[in-house]
Amino acid sequence: MPQVAVSDKIPDLASRFSGQLLQPLDAGYDDARRVHNGLVDKRPFLIARCRNTADVADAVNFAREHSLEVAVRGGGHNVAGRATIDGGLMLDLSLMKGIHVDPNARTARAQGGATWGEYDRETQVHGLASTGGAVSTTGVGGLTLGGGWGYLLGKYGLAIDNLRSVQLVLADGRIVTASADDNAELFWAVRGGGGNFGIATSLEYNVHPVGPTIIGGLVAHPFAKARDTLRFYRDITASAPDELTSVAGVLRGPDGSMLAALVPCYCGPLSSGDPAVKQIKTFGPPVLDAVGPMPYASINQLMDAAYPKGALNYWKSSFLSSLSDEVINTMIDCYARVPSPMTAIALEHWHGATTRVAVGDTAFPHRAVGYNMLLVSEWTNPADTERNIAWTRESYAAMQPFIASGRYVNYLDDDEAGDPAAEAYGPNYARLRQLKTKFDPTNFFHMNQNIRPA
Ligand SMILES: Cc1cc2nc3c(=O)[nH]c(=O)nc-3n(C[C@H](O)[C@H](O)[C@H](O)COP(=O)(O)OP(=O)(O)OC[C@H]3O[C@@H](n4cnc5c(N)ncnc54)[C@H](O)[C@@H]3O)c2cc1C
Repeated sequence: MPQVAVSDKIPDLASRFSGQLLQPLDAGYDDARRVHNGLVDKRPFLIARCRNTADVADAVNFAREHSLEVAVRGGGHNVAGRATIDGGLMLDLSLMKGIHVDPNARTARAQGGATWGEYDRETQVHGLASTGGAVSTTGVGGLTLGGGWGYLLGKYGLAIDNLRSVQLVLADGRIVTASADDNAELFWAVRGGGGNFGIATSLEYNVHPVGPTIIGGLVAHPFAKARDTLRFYRDITASAPDELTSVAGVLRGPDGSMLAALVPCYCGPLSSGDPAVKQIKTFGPPVLDAVGPMPYASINQLMDAAYPKGALNYWKSSFLSSLSDEVINTMIDCYARVPSPMTAIALEHWHGATTRVAVGDTAFPHRAVGYNMLLVSEWTNPADTERNIAWTRESYAAMQPFIASGRYVNYLDDDEAGDPAAEAYGPNYARLRQLKTKFDPTNFFHMNQNIRPA
């Protein structure tokens, strides 16, 4: 249907819609269309800012009946910009932020537009938490559906490993619950399969006693000591207990100096501490040691200022086959040529509870102990775009001899070669394609790292 004719139908949708419907000339449209990555500059025909599940179902039915392409926005953090679309309907969940915690049952339910900062605030009031993102503005929806790395992963697994149930609006407008008992195969698929199967209007998690005080923070060493620092990181992570999950990498400090840094989070008993944390504090001397007792919610805000909304982002990432000396040397050589002071190369440690889940138990297949390497390029001046993208691609090419076969779907960018979904899902891809055929045969939900129907 031509867009003018579709415009004529919007008042009918508006007559029952509780949220906001925005078209390009409406106040607020420009704000609502923007996502985290400033490189993404798309103009939806219509933005449906939903307030509840009924709005989501109405917007899905409207889009299907009028042949509009749909993009779903949770927290809007996806670097590939899959939360928005040129010309179609952006189904925006960011007004749906309700969070309810049942401290007796140790469960928490969040609506699909909540962020991890909002989730941490509400769960930590009760001294509870489940694994979520390391930057508080990231969306609960997108991060969880893709897997969900966070500082509690050693102890409690990925975000999906804590998921109890999800309420979904499917492509045909049906509203269903997926859990171990209801629609079990759909529940398998959404634990890693991203937004391919439906729109998660709410997600229910198991939550655990955490903190509120944990031991964490950042310790930084001079770039000249980067080799020793990253080798030390390899040594301490080799025997890290489940309670200690950490990231390391090379980055620039506030004064522009290059650094090698470790960010540990220890969620075990404060009284005993952990020998690995003590080692982290005695290795050095560092140029900065800010590791100590801190609120759990604060460690998830530690890096917020480094990731402002609207900065230009281009990322590449892969799991590493090992953290060998060659990998460390290559990382350091690449970083020595980095064009932007906002860019970092990070190593996430994947271990513990996450790696005790079988590959086929959820759609998310990366269950080996190891490291995920991220080239997180970030800059602000559009004139610098070309050289930042060039540096990221060159550095990623230099890392190729060291990467393992799998890639984490949530970090894929917009220009991945080959079939990125196949790399992201590995042995689970064939089953995901069958389930996509069953639940979304027309590929209605395709603005994501797309699993094509079989
Ligand atoms: C600064 C920054 C920090 C990050 N830190 C972490 C981290 O610590 N751990 C980690 O694992 N990842 C992290 N990520 C990656 C993050 O998991 C992905 O970017 C994820 O896609 C973000 O989800 P979102 O809801 O914010 O994004 P969006 O861009 O809104 O959505 C991402 C994808 O999920 C779909 N989607 C979102 N919500 C829903 C929903 N409710 N129902 C159905 N589909 C939905 C969208 O359609 C889109 O395809 C980070 C990203 C950034 C930019």
